[in-house]
Order: sequence, then structure tokens, then C-alpha cells
Amino acid sequence: MRRRPLIAGNWKMNGLVETALELVDGIGSGLSQREGRQTSCEVLVCPPFTAIQTVNKQLSAKGYNIKLGAQNMAIEEPGARTGEVCGIMLRNVGCHYVILGHSERRQFYGETNEIVGKKTASAYRDGLVPIVCVGELLEEREAGRTIAVVRAQLDAVMPHLPEESGKRNNLVIAYEPVWAIGTGKVASPQQAQEVHAFIRGHLSEKLGADTASRIRILYGGSMKPSNAKELIALEDVDGGLIGGAALKAQDFLGIIDGAA
Ligand code: PEP
Repeated sequence: MRRRPLIAGNWKMNGLVETALELVDGIGSGLSQREGRQTSCEVLVCPPFTAIQTVNKQLSAKGYNIKLGAQNMAIEEPGARTGEVCGIMLRNVGCHYVILGHSERRQFYGETNEIVGKKTASAYRDGLVPIVCVGELLEEREAGRTIAVVRAQLDAVMPHLPEESGKRNNLVIAYEPVWAIGTGKVASPQQAQEVHAFIRGHLSEKLGADTASRIRILYGGSMKPSNAKELIALEDVDGGLIGGAALKAQDFLGIIDGAA
């Protein structure tokens, strides 16, 4: 089954209001020039919280065909959680997607599989589509534990998915080998396809073949214009989650071209 590729930019903790505007204008105008080709994939940007509303207003004002997402969210609903941002607030400023369990959140902010599972439930509760990140550390790969690690990360999310198949189908998984994130070391096509195929097979076991065939599995880790086409062409790779190269409009557009 052909799934519509998703090209998602994770801006991480980058972008003041002015630079966020410049970046979204660069991407938006590049997409407008591409017209027909652009519609073959879905384009998403995930700015830092402080720039989301600015980007949202610009997307509406200019009519760019770009979706908006956040990089994290609180488990809880509105209330006494100082410093947190919940899903309803993200919806309120135009977000459709939320990245959950990014390796930087796991590594630096103690997000466990259990927390990522709960956040997945909260995302669905609040009407956001979760992009759940999974992936192994270098030492886990070297110890032959890649599949076990990814399986455990996926299994933590399964009990938190909604019952309705329509909603389950829109789940997005991002396979991001931690050793490839921001390092310039990209997974080989064989390495990527092997893990993506495992993820698809595991989703099929847990959720059924039909749902598994609809869920998009993104690759993330040093994706750039020069390697995007080959990776996205792989059978079970349905787009990319992009960090560094998402901060330069021309690079991000080059990756989008690789998916077109
Ligand atoms: C990421 O942080 O999700 C990522 C894939 O980063 P980079 O593209 O910079 O490796």
C-alpha cells in the first residue's frame, strides 16, 4: 500500500520569532513554486513553543500548505502544572501533530517508555496526532539489542492507543537511531529498512495488518537532500523526521523533493 509521505521538521530549541518567520516563508514559497509535486507529500514543521503562534498566523495569512506540530506536550489537562503546555493549548494555536519521546527528551529529561505511553494517550485525548519516536543507542546496536529496544518502546505505546481504527491508523512512528541524530552518521538503507520492516510487522501483530499498512513510519537521523531520496524510496520508510536540515529552507525543500 502506498502511504502519503510525511516530511516533518523538528526545529528543536532553535528559532526566535524573526528567524521562525523567515524559515517558514522560505519553505512556504519554495513549496508554492513546486505546486503539483508538493501535494504528493505532507509537509510539517514543529517550531519551539514560543514560535508556534507566529508560524500559525503566517501559515493562515499566506495559505502555505504546511501543517504545524509541537515537539512535546504535558500528560495532563489544563491546571496546576507550572511550566508545562498541554494538548488543548497546542490545538488552540493550530497544531495537528506532536512529537513524543524524542531521544533528547528521553536522554535529558528522563522520559521513560511509560511516560511516552501516557503522552500518547493524552495526544489522542486532545485531538493531536502523535509522532512517537523510537530508536536505539549506539551501544544497544553494538550489543545486538536494536530490535529488543524498539519493541519495548513500541509496546509501551500500544495500550494507550484509541479503540477506533480510524484514529489508530493516523499514528506516526519515527525510527531514529540515536547514534544517527545530529551526528552526520546516517543509517544505511539496509539498516533503516530492517528496523522499519520490524516495526511494520510488530504493528501488524498488535494492531492488525490493515492498520499496520496505513501507519506511517518515518526515518530520522542526519537526513539531508543527498540521502533523502534513497531512504524514502525504501519499502517501509514513509518520510522523514528532520532536525538540522529542517533549519535551512533549501535543505528542507531538497528533502521534500526527494519524497516527491
Ligand atoms: C531529530 O532530532 O529528530 C533528527 C533527526 O535530527 P538530525 O536530522 O539533525 O539528525
